[in-house]
Amino acid sequence: MKHTKISIIGAGAVGSTIAYALLLKNIAAEICLVDINEMRCRGEILDLSDALSFCGPSLIHSETTKDAGKSDIIIIAAGKRQEPGEDRIALLKANKKIIKSILEELQPINKGTILIMVTNPVDILTLYAQELLNHPRSQIFGSGTFLDTQRLRGLLSAKLNIAEQSIHAYILGEHGDTQFPAWSSARVAGVPLKDFSLSDQELNQMANETRKKAYEIIECKGATFYGIATCVAALCRTIIFDQKRATPVSCYQEKYDVCLSIPVILGENGIEQQLHLPLDDQEKQNLEHSVQAIKEYISS
Ligand code: NAD
Repeated sequence: MKHTKISIIGAGAVGSTIAYALLLKNIAAEICLVDINEMRCRGEILDLSDALSFCGPSLIHSETTKDAGKSDIIIIAAGKRQEPGEDRIALLKANKKIIKSILEELQPINKGTILIMVTNPVDILTLYAQELLNHPRSQIFGSGTFLDTQRLRGLLSAKLNIAEQSIHAYILGEHGDTQFPAWSSARVAGVPLKDFSLSDQELNQMANETRKKAYEIIECKGATFYGIATCVAALCRTIIFDQKRATPVSCYQEKYDVCLSIPVILGENGIEQQLHLPLDDQEKQNLEHSVQAIKEYISS
Protein backbone atom coordinates (compact mmCIF):
# COMPACT_ATOMS: atom_id res chain seq x y z
CA MET A 1 0.00 0.00 0.00
CA LYS A 2 1.14 3.54 -0.77
CA HIS A 3 2.78 5.51 2.08
CA THR A 4 0.29 8.27 2.90
CA LYS A 5 1.25 11.53 4.50
CA ILE A 6 -1.20 14.00 6.04
CA SER A 7 -0.06 17.45 7.18
CA ILE A 8 -2.06 19.52 9.62
CA ILE A 9 -1.34 23.23 9.72
CA GLY A 10 -2.40 24.64 13.07
CA ALA A 11 -1.74 22.38 16.04
CA GLY A 12 -4.29 24.00 18.34
CA ALA A 13 -7.36 22.31 19.78
CA VAL A 14 -8.79 21.36 16.38
CA GLY A 15 -5.53 20.45 14.62
CA SER A 16 -4.14 18.28 17.40
CA THR A 17 -7.48 16.50 17.89
CA ILE A 18 -7.59 15.77 14.15
CA ALA A 19 -4.12 14.20 14.53
CA TYR A 20 -5.42 12.11 17.46
CA ALA A 21 -8.47 10.93 15.48
CA LEU A 22 -6.23 10.00 12.53
CA LEU A 23 -3.92 8.05 14.84
CA LEU A 24 -6.71 6.16 16.57
CA LYS A 25 -8.22 5.13 13.25
CA ASN A 26 -4.87 4.24 11.60
CA ILE A 27 -5.63 6.42 8.62
CA ALA A 28 -2.17 7.63 7.56
CA ALA A 29 1.37 6.27 7.73
CA GLU A 30 2.77 9.73 8.49
CA ILE A 31 1.16 12.67 10.25
CA CYS A 32 2.88 16.06 10.39
CA LEU A 33 1.95 19.05 12.50
CA VAL A 34 2.89 22.66 11.77
CA ASP A 35 2.30 25.62 14.07
CA ILE A 36 3.88 29.03 14.48
CA ASN A 37 3.83 28.27 18.18
CA GLU A 38 6.69 25.77 18.07
CA MET A 39 6.53 24.97 21.76
CA ARG A 40 2.81 24.09 21.55
CA CYS A 41 3.47 21.98 18.46
CA ARG A 42 6.30 20.10 20.18
CA GLY A 43 4.13 19.49 23.22
CA GLU A 44 1.27 18.11 21.10
CA ILE A 45 3.62 15.79 19.19
CA LEU A 46 5.21 14.46 22.39
CA ASP A 47 1.78 13.91 23.93
CA LEU A 48 0.34 12.26 20.79
CA SER A 49 3.39 10.01 20.47
CA ASP A 50 2.39 8.43 23.80
CA ALA A 51 -0.74 7.12 22.10
CA LEU A 52 1.24 5.47 19.29
CA SER A 53 1.86 2.16 21.02
CA PHE A 54 -1.92 1.57 21.11
CA CYS A 55 -2.40 2.49 17.45
CA GLY A 56 -0.91 1.48 14.10
CA PRO A 57 2.70 2.23 13.25
CA SER A 58 2.15 5.88 12.25
CA LEU A 59 4.99 8.36 12.28
CA ILE A 60 4.19 11.71 13.88
CA HIS A 61 6.48 14.71 13.69
CA SER A 62 6.63 18.44 12.97
CA GLU A 63 7.66 20.06 9.71
CA THR A 64 7.64 23.41 7.94
CA THR A 65 4.67 24.79 6.03
CA LYS A 66 6.76 24.44 2.85
CA ASP A 67 7.23 20.67 3.47
CA ALA A 68 3.47 20.30 3.99
CA GLY A 69 3.01 21.14 0.30
CA LYS A 70 4.35 17.67 -0.57
CA SER A 71 1.73 15.76 1.43
CA ASP A 72 -1.14 13.69 0.09
CA ILE A 73 -3.58 15.70 2.19
CA ILE A 74 -3.09 19.13 3.76
CA ILE A 75 -5.53 20.17 6.47
CA ILE A 76 -5.64 23.83 7.44
CA ALA A 77 -6.86 24.38 11.00
CA ALA A 78 -4.75 27.42 11.87
CA GLY A 79 -6.13 30.72 13.06
CA LYS A 80 -8.41 32.46 15.45
CA ARG A 81 -11.38 30.61 16.95
CA GLN A 82 -14.78 32.06 17.98
CA GLU A 83 -15.15 33.65 21.39
CA PRO A 84 -18.39 32.95 23.28
CA GLY A 85 -21.27 34.75 21.52
CA GLU A 86 -19.14 35.59 18.45
CA ASP A 87 -20.22 34.34 14.99
CA ARG A 88 -17.84 32.71 12.51
CA ILE A 89 -17.82 35.74 10.20
CA ALA A 90 -16.20 37.83 12.93
CA LEU A 91 -13.03 35.77 12.31
CA LEU A 92 -12.76 36.65 8.63
CA LYS A 93 -10.32 39.54 8.72
CA ALA A 94 -7.83 37.91 11.09
CA ASN A 95 -8.03 34.46 9.55
CA LYS A 96 -7.82 35.63 5.93
CA LYS A 97 -4.44 37.18 6.75
CA ILE A 98 -3.23 33.97 8.42
CA ILE A 99 -4.48 31.76 5.56
CA LYS A 100 -2.85 34.03 2.97
CA SER A 101 0.55 33.68 4.63
CA ILE A 102 0.14 29.89 4.94
CA LEU A 103 -0.93 29.44 1.30
CA GLU A 104 1.98 31.55 0.06
CA GLU A 105 4.44 29.51 2.09
CA LEU A 106 2.92 26.16 1.05
CA GLN A 107 3.60 26.54 -2.65
CA PRO A 108 4.41 24.72 -4.82
CA ILE A 109 2.05 21.97 -3.74
CA ASN A 110 2.17 18.51 -5.31
CA LYS A 111 -0.13 17.89 -8.26
CA GLY A 112 -2.24 15.23 -6.54
CA THR A 113 -2.47 16.91 -3.12
CA ILE A 114 -5.93 17.45 -1.60
CA LEU A 115 -6.39 20.50 0.63
CA ILE A 116 -9.11 20.53 3.29
CA MET A 117 -9.95 23.90 4.84
CA VAL A 118 -11.26 23.81 8.41
CA THR A 119 -10.47 27.35 9.58
CA ASN A 120 -13.55 29.57 9.83
CA PRO A 121 -15.33 31.16 8.11
CA VAL A 122 -14.72 27.99 6.15
CA ASP A 123 -16.76 28.73 2.98
CA ILE A 124 -15.06 32.05 2.32
CA LEU A 125 -11.58 30.75 3.13
CA THR A 126 -12.09 27.72 0.86
CA LEU A 127 -12.92 30.04 -2.03
CA TYR A 128 -9.94 32.20 -1.11
CA ALA A 129 -7.62 29.16 -1.20
CA GLN A 130 -9.03 28.13 -4.59
CA GLU A 131 -8.37 31.62 -5.94
CA LEU A 132 -4.86 31.87 -4.55
CA LEU A 133 -3.53 28.43 -5.46
CA ASN A 134 -2.95 27.22 -8.96
CA HIS A 135 -4.61 23.88 -8.20
CA PRO A 136 -7.82 22.14 -9.34
CA ARG A 137 -10.90 23.32 -7.42
CA SER A 138 -11.97 19.68 -7.03
CA GLN A 139 -8.89 19.16 -4.84
CA ILE A 140 -9.61 22.08 -2.50
CA PHE A 141 -12.71 21.96 -0.32
CA GLY A 142 -13.89 22.86 3.16
CA SER A 143 -15.30 20.69 5.93
CA GLY A 144 -18.44 22.80 5.45
CA THR A 145 -21.70 21.37 6.80
CA PHE A 146 -20.41 17.81 7.25
CA LEU A 147 -20.37 18.36 11.01
CA ASP A 148 -23.78 20.11 10.99
CA THR A 149 -25.22 17.23 8.95
CA GLN A 150 -23.92 14.71 11.49
CA ARG A 151 -25.48 16.79 14.27
CA LEU A 152 -28.83 16.80 12.50
CA ARG A 153 -28.69 13.05 11.84
CA GLY A 154 -27.91 12.48 15.52
CA LEU A 155 -31.02 14.43 16.53
CA LEU A 156 -33.19 12.60 13.99
CA SER A 157 -31.80 9.28 15.13
CA ALA A 158 -32.72 10.02 18.75
CA LYS A 159 -36.18 11.27 17.79
CA LEU A 160 -37.03 8.34 15.48
CA ASN A 161 -35.11 5.67 17.38
CA ILE A 162 -33.41 4.61 14.14
CA ALA A 163 -29.66 4.32 13.59
CA GLU A 164 -27.96 7.37 12.01
CA GLN A 165 -26.52 5.14 9.27
CA SER A 166 -30.05 4.61 7.94
CA ILE A 167 -30.82 8.33 7.86
CA HIS A 168 -30.03 10.39 4.78
CA ALA A 169 -30.61 14.05 5.52
CA TYR A 170 -28.33 16.97 4.73
CA ILE A 171 -27.62 20.44 6.02
CA LEU A 172 -26.84 22.61 3.00
CA GLY A 173 -25.46 26.09 2.37
CA GLU A 174 -23.19 28.11 4.62
CA HIS A 175 -21.36 26.54 7.55
CA GLY A 176 -22.87 29.33 9.59
CA ASP A 177 -26.10 31.00 10.54
CA THR A 178 -27.83 30.70 7.10
CA GLN A 179 -27.40 26.91 6.83
CA PHE A 180 -30.61 24.92 6.36
CA PRO A 181 -31.81 21.30 6.31
CA ALA A 182 -32.97 19.85 2.99
CA TRP A 183 -36.05 18.24 4.52
CA SER A 184 -37.82 17.58 1.22
CA SER A 185 -35.15 15.09 0.11
CA ALA A 186 -34.52 13.55 3.55
CA ARG A 187 -35.05 9.78 3.63
CA VAL A 188 -34.94 7.04 6.22
CA ALA A 189 -33.98 3.79 4.51
CA GLY A 190 -35.62 5.09 1.35
CA VAL A 191 -38.82 6.26 3.10
CA PRO A 192 -39.40 10.04 2.83
CA LEU A 193 -38.94 11.76 6.18
CA LYS A 194 -42.30 13.47 5.72
CA ASP A 195 -43.95 10.02 6.11
CA PHE A 196 -42.77 9.93 9.72
CA SER A 197 -44.98 11.78 12.13
CA LEU A 198 -42.69 14.72 12.92
CA SER A 199 -44.40 18.10 13.32
CA ASP A 200 -43.08 21.32 11.74
CA GLN A 201 -42.30 22.48 15.24
CA GLU A 202 -40.13 19.41 15.89
CA LEU A 203 -38.33 19.83 12.56
CA ASN A 204 -37.67 23.53 13.23
CA GLN A 205 -36.41 22.74 16.68
CA MET A 206 -33.91 20.21 15.31
CA ALA A 207 -32.72 22.65 12.63
CA ASN A 208 -32.22 25.37 15.28
CA GLU A 209 -30.46 23.05 17.66
CA THR A 210 -28.10 22.01 14.87
CA ARG A 211 -27.41 25.64 13.91
CA LYS A 212 -26.78 26.69 17.49
CA LYS A 213 -24.85 23.71 18.82
CA ALA A 214 -21.38 25.20 18.22
CA TYR A 215 -22.41 28.38 20.08
CA GLU A 216 -23.55 26.34 23.04
CA ILE A 217 -20.37 24.24 23.17
CA ILE A 218 -18.21 27.39 22.94
CA GLU A 219 -20.26 29.03 25.69
CA CYS A 220 -19.66 26.01 27.95
CA LYS A 221 -16.02 25.09 27.22
CA GLY A 222 -14.53 27.74 24.93
CA ALA A 223 -13.98 25.64 21.78
CA THR A 224 -15.34 22.77 19.71
CA PHE A 225 -12.93 20.09 18.52
CA TYR A 226 -14.00 16.44 18.98
CA GLY A 227 -16.84 16.53 16.43
CA ILE A 228 -14.94 18.44 13.75
CA ALA A 229 -11.81 16.33 14.26
CA THR A 230 -13.78 13.11 13.78
CA CYS A 231 -15.43 14.52 10.65
CA VAL A 232 -12.07 15.57 9.17
CA ALA A 233 -10.57 12.14 9.94
CA ALA A 234 -13.57 10.58 8.13
CA LEU A 235 -12.93 12.85 5.12
CA CYS A 236 -9.28 11.71 5.06
CA ARG A 237 -10.30 8.05 5.25
CA THR A 238 -12.76 8.52 2.38
CA ILE A 239 -10.01 10.07 0.25
CA ILE A 240 -7.17 7.71 1.14
CA PHE A 241 -9.26 4.55 0.73
CA ASP A 242 -11.02 5.99 -2.35
CA GLN A 243 -14.40 5.20 -0.79
CA LYS A 244 -16.58 7.35 -3.12
CA ARG A 245 -18.86 8.27 -0.21
CA ALA A 246 -21.54 10.95 -0.51
CA THR A 247 -20.45 13.64 1.94
CA PRO A 248 -21.51 17.28 2.28
CA VAL A 249 -18.50 19.59 1.95
CA SER A 250 -17.95 23.21 1.02
CA CYS A 251 -17.17 23.26 -2.69
CA TYR A 252 -17.20 25.71 -5.58
CA GLN A 253 -20.61 26.48 -7.09
CA GLU A 254 -20.05 27.90 -10.55
CA LYS A 255 -23.62 29.19 -10.74
CA TYR A 256 -23.08 31.46 -7.73
CA ASP A 257 -19.27 31.94 -7.75
CA VAL A 258 -19.03 31.02 -4.06
CA CYS A 259 -18.19 27.93 -2.04
CA LEU A 260 -20.95 26.37 0.05
CA SER A 261 -21.98 22.88 1.06
CA ILE A 262 -23.81 20.32 -0.98
CA PRO A 263 -23.23 16.54 -0.99
CA VAL A 264 -20.40 15.36 -3.22
CA ILE A 265 -18.82 12.03 -4.06
CA LEU A 266 -15.38 11.99 -2.49
CA GLY A 267 -12.56 9.75 -3.55
CA GLU A 268 -8.80 9.71 -4.06
CA ASN A 269 -9.04 12.57 -6.56
CA GLY A 270 -11.00 14.77 -4.18
CA ILE A 271 -14.46 15.83 -5.34
CA GLU A 272 -15.42 13.45 -8.13
CA GLN A 273 -19.07 14.50 -8.54
CA GLN A 274 -21.33 17.16 -7.09
CA LEU A 275 -24.82 15.96 -6.19
CA HIS A 276 -27.54 18.56 -6.63
CA LEU A 277 -30.45 17.58 -4.42
CA PRO A 278 -33.93 18.46 -5.63
CA LEU A 279 -35.09 21.41 -3.49
CA ASP A 280 -38.62 22.65 -2.79
CA ASP A 281 -39.46 26.36 -3.10
CA GLN A 282 -38.62 27.19 0.51
CA GLU A 283 -35.27 25.38 0.27
CA LYS A 284 -34.45 27.20 -2.98
CA GLN A 285 -35.06 30.48 -1.14
CA ASN A 286 -32.90 29.31 1.75
CA LEU A 287 -30.08 28.48 -0.64
CA GLU A 288 -30.32 31.94 -2.26
CA HIS A 289 -30.24 33.46 1.22
CA SER A 290 -27.05 31.54 2.06
CA VAL A 291 -25.43 32.58 -1.23
CA GLN A 292 -26.34 36.25 -0.70
CA ALA A 293 -25.01 36.19 2.87
CA ILE A 294 -21.69 34.67 1.77
CA LYS A 295 -21.38 37.21 -1.08
CA GLU A 296 -22.09 40.09 1.29
CA TYR A 297 -19.45 38.89 3.75
CA ILE A 298 -16.93 38.61 0.92
CA SER A 299 -17.66 42.09 -0.41
CA SER A 300 -17.64 43.68 3.03
P1 NAD B 1 -6.65 27.26 18.60
O1 NAD B 1 -6.46 28.66 19.04
O2 NAD B 1 -6.69 26.19 19.63
O3 NAD B 1 -5.52 26.86 17.56
C1 NAD B 1 -5.18 27.64 16.45
C2 NAD B 1 -3.72 27.39 16.18
O4 NAD B 1 -3.36 28.03 14.95
C3 NAD B 1 -2.79 27.96 17.27
O5 NAD B 1 -2.00 26.92 17.82
C4 NAD B 1 -1.93 28.98 16.51
O6 NAD B 1 -0.60 29.08 16.99
C5 NAD B 1 -1.99 28.41 15.09
N1 NAD B 1 -1.60 29.36 14.04
C6 NAD B 1 -1.95 30.66 13.91
N2 NAD B 1 -1.36 31.19 12.82
C7 NAD B 1 -0.64 30.19 12.23
C8 NAD B 1 0.19 30.11 11.09
N3 NAD B 1 0.39 31.17 10.29
N4 NAD B 1 0.78 28.92 10.80
C9 NAD B 1 0.59 27.84 11.60
N5 NAD B 1 -0.18 27.87 12.71
C10 NAD B 1 -0.78 29.02 13.02
O7 NAD B 1 -7.99 27.25 17.72
P2 NAD B 1 -8.86 25.97 17.37
O8 NAD B 1 -9.94 25.81 18.38
O9 NAD B 1 -7.94 24.85 17.07
O10 NAD B 1 -9.58 26.48 16.03
C11 NAD B 1 -8.85 26.62 14.81
C12 NAD B 1 -9.78 27.07 13.69
O11 NAD B 1 -10.71 26.03 13.39
C13 NAD B 1 -10.64 28.31 14.03
O12 NAD B 1 -10.72 29.15 12.92
C14 NAD B 1 -11.99 27.70 14.34
O13 NAD B 1 -13.05 28.62 14.13
C15 NAD B 1 -12.01 26.58 13.31
N6 NAD B 1 -13.03 25.55 13.57
C16 NAD B 1 -13.71 25.12 12.48
C17 NAD B 1 -14.71 24.19 12.63
C18 NAD B 1 -15.49 23.76 11.40
O14 NAD B 1 -16.51 23.07 11.53
N7 NAD B 1 -15.05 24.11 10.22
C19 NAD B 1 -15.00 23.65 13.89
C20 NAD B 1 -14.24 24.08 14.97
C21 NAD B 1 -13.26 25.05 14.80
